[in-house]
Amino acid sequence: MNYKIVRLNTAAKSEITSSVLIIYTGGTLGMAYDESGALVPFNFGQILEKIPTLTSMNAAITVISFPEPIDSSNVNMQHWVDMAYIIYENYDSYDGFVVLHGTDTMAYSASMMSYMLQGLSKPVIFTGAQLPISAMRSDARENLMTSLEIATAKANGKPIVPEVCIFFNHMLLRGNRSKKVQSVHFDAFESENYPPLAESGIVIDYNYASIKPFEEGKKLKYFNQLDNNVMVLKLFPGITQNIMDSCFATKGLRGVVLETYGSGNSPSERWFIESLEKAVKKGLIILNVSQCNGGRVIQGRYETSKDLKRIGVLSGGDITTEAAITKLMFLLANENSDSEIRRKLIQPIAGEMSLTAQV
Ligand code: ASP
Repeated sequence: MNYKIVRLNTAAKSEITSSVLIIYTGGTLGMAYDESGALVPFNFGQILEKIPTLTSMNAAITVISFPEPIDSSNVNMQHWVDMAYIIYENYDSYDGFVVLHGTDTMAYSASMMSYMLQGLSKPVIFTGAQLPISAMRSDARENLMTSLEIATAKANGKPIVPEVCIFFNHMLLRGNRSKKVQSVHFDAFESENYPPLAESGIVIDYNYASIKPFEEGKKLKYFNQLDNNVMVLKLFPGITQNIMDSCFATKGLRGVVLETYGSGNSPSERWFIESLEKAVKKGLIILNVSQCNGGRVIQGRYETSKDLKRIGVLSGGDITTEAAITKLMFLLANENSDSEIRRKLIQPIAGEMSLTAQV
């Protein structure tokens, strides 16, 4: 990958005490209006003109830009491999990392990074903006400045937040617990099933009890294999056997995130259960995730989910769809056996689900 590297001369007025790497992937934050009024990525070398307060930070800031910044709706597996590799390759040289990313798929990318970068003991903070940095009422400045502060924050010489997070609109959320829930207002992200890791006001209030503890001497492991022979199948009243069977017959398909209702419920009609059972029997891995943002799957709580458990559909507990589909892509490529994939799907591997009994 042909990165563009920009070192910003930000510490002109103060002493450098920390270092941070910004990885600019694209998204609204880094766009400006061109003459025709369309939003296009601007040259990140000009960031100091847009945010002069960067010069008052006492951190050395380097920016690595994707050669072609993307709208995050175009993110693909190669972009994830690139993001993870940039962090891995530069891991020892920086105190923390800020990934500038479009909001549309930020929760997917942050989830994926939490799996691809295991043994992480430094902050990786995803952020972006609802309005471009050049817009008068933009949220970009606050999101970026606070992310930089969090990425370099230490207590007793150790990083306060040694995990992959999303910082947006004053809230720091665990990346693989987050969801984009708002496309117009500034409060774009929520994490219904896990408490915020910090809230920023006149100070940044860290919720120490919920942050993954720093582990001394952890070595970063980077995984670069992913498998996208997966799908999300969202149930809706009126879904037909034909649609279900056709989905499960897709050539190469290995895993399905089944978005069910409420606490993991589905139709209990015979054809529906039989269609799923046939799919499980032929080796498909099916993970039950709720369409609700909060709460969790409890297979067997209602009669309408008892059969799912019996035929071998796995419970995703309180995982989000974003964290579930990326976890499936990750495990399918990195585990040797289906039994190991199934075992890891129903337990947390990077804090993406709660440790309650998975049923
Ligand atoms: N479509 C944009 C993106 O995800 C929206 C944003 O940046 O917020 O890249």
